[in-house]
Amino acid sequence: MSEQEYDTVIVGAGFAGLYALHKFRDGLGLSAVVIEAGDDVGGTWYWNRYPGARCDIESYSYSYSFSEELQQEWCWSERFAGQPEILRYLNHVADRFGLRSDIRFGTRVTSASWDDDSRRWTVVTDGGEQLVCRFLVSGVGNLSAAKDPEFDGLERFGGNVYATARWPHEGVDFTGRRVGVVGTGASGIQVIPEIAKQAAHLTVFQRTPNYATPIGNGAMDPEFDRYVKANYAALRDRSRNHFLGVPYDLVQPSALALDDTERRRVYEQRWAQGGFRLFFDAFADLVFDEAANDTAAEFIREKIRQRVTDPRVAEVLAPTDYPYATKRPPLETNYYETFNRDNVTLVDLRSTPIERVTAAGVRTSDSEHELDDIVLATGFDAMTGPLLRMNLTGRNGTPLAERWADGPRTYLGLMVHGFPNLFLITGPQSPSVLYNMPLAIEDHVDWIADCITHLREQGSASIEPTPDAEDGWVAETAQLAGNTLLPRTDSWYMGANVPGKPRVCMVYLGGAPTYRQICSDVVAKGYEGFALAPEGATANA
Ligand code: NAP
Repeated sequence: MSEQEYDTVIVGAGFAGLYALHKFRDGLGLSAVVIEAGDDVGGTWYWNRYPGARCDIESYSYSYSFSEELQQEWCWSERFAGQPEILRYLNHVADRFGLRSDIRFGTRVTSASWDDDSRRWTVVTDGGEQLVCRFLVSGVGNLSAAKDPEFDGLERFGGNVYATARWPHEGVDFTGRRVGVVGTGASGIQVIPEIAKQAAHLTVFQRTPNYATPIGNGAMDPEFDRYVKANYAALRDRSRNHFLGVPYDLVQPSALALDDTERRRVYEQRWAQGGFRLFFDAFADLVFDEAANDTAAEFIREKIRQRVTDPRVAEVLAPTDYPYATKRPPLETNYYETFNRDNVTLVDLRSTPIERVTAAGVRTSDSEHELDDIVLATGFDAMTGPLLRMNLTGRNGTPLAERWADGPRTYLGLMVHGFPNLFLITGPQSPSVLYNMPLAIEDHVDWIADCITHLREQGSASIEPTPDAEDGWVAETAQLAGNTLLPRTDSWYMGANVPGKPRVCMVYLGGAPTYRQICSDVVAKGYEGFALAPEGATANA
């Protein structure tokens, strides 16, 4: 087995890994290599190539802020860029900053273990390589480990099976075909209207209806583009001071403080603006107060009933048994109108569950749906899945899976006790998926870079959280989640979408501005809550 030594091994060449490589290699002068399973850069935007895939935070926000030149030179063609354009952007970044030469494509990490004597990680890849490094940095993302299919008989299906999370690079032509889509989360809600336009017949298998609201996409207005470019620094500053990392500022304290007419005016306006305005820029108490939430939920249900012609279909599509935004709210284009088409059928899996997949299609409890193609849009083993699949082993050979048997345990979502010098970009228990990802990534990479610089200045070999700091952070994230309506709904935020997964909230819900303040306070107090080990010493057990 060949062995190579680096200061830093970074896993993943998506938004996180690309910026981490640039920062550590070109900013800190460290030797660094990126290990990437895909054959090119892009991460989630490399794999999720299904028709309709696009970002749902405005593109000018959903992009890097670290280079003013990059911000000024790149022009987005749409308000919410589609997957091909985001992938072109990430390729441009890789070329512009000369990143490709230090990325090992088509290579997967199969295990990584910490050795306390040498204070090094040893990373093993599926190519039989062994990479030794001081710092192991995970840029594997939060939604990159697709959930394993849960349907008996899938392997005997006579047609094609596709997964939104692993879409064929050459695309799929559904013309004249009978297609079934399983899953109505953000991915399903994006792909369903696109497949419906092509297929002879589309059958949508829905278990839980979603509160989808319009994305409001369109061509990028050149005047707005000029405004953004002239004001980028201020817009980024406003974004970093917003819970979600976007420059929104219309939110009002409570949905219950207004009468029906005024409240509706707010909802209608946010609905028309599109994007996450309704979720994040209407009323601040929607995820805290059930009565406030009901007003938004009912507003969305009304819209669904107006848009879907058949009232029985509308009732199946309208969620009634969980609060709005306690599952991640999807954004849509013509999703509900799709169910008015003659070639689309909705199957309610709550009343007629899938029994198995047969050679000819999908058998539910009351009928057999004959299909040529099945599209799985069934989601991810979110947050912890991508980390656990790397088989990480910390001090004394303790597997991360064992430490996290009851759910993730981190300090600041950045580091884990017993796993020195392992840094998690947008790890569990950080704001991560509830913070504009490119900014969340930049904040973390910058924090890690400062931390590594601090270690060098101190002559320290390693850093890890103390058990107390980690316990405190786990308790704080749980308490914050407990103040919201999120824990009562089965969602991937809670790990509840994967059978057998511990049910805990994996997102820090105190908001990005508070979180950023905590992270900088920790540094100002000399890395409070962390234990540093000097070169040559034995680390704390
Ligand atoms: P998801 O939100 O977890 O949705 C999965 C869907 O599959 C749900 O409707 C789920 O039903 C259904 N499902 C799962 N297992 C099933 C089973 N055994 N039988 C029947 N139905 C089953 O996954 P996703 O749609 O891929 O989205 C995941 C996240 O990725 C999103 O929330 C978002 O954060 C991100 N994403 C973002 C974008 C974007 O930025 N535009 C696009 C796509 C995805 P239940 O609800 O009943 O479990």
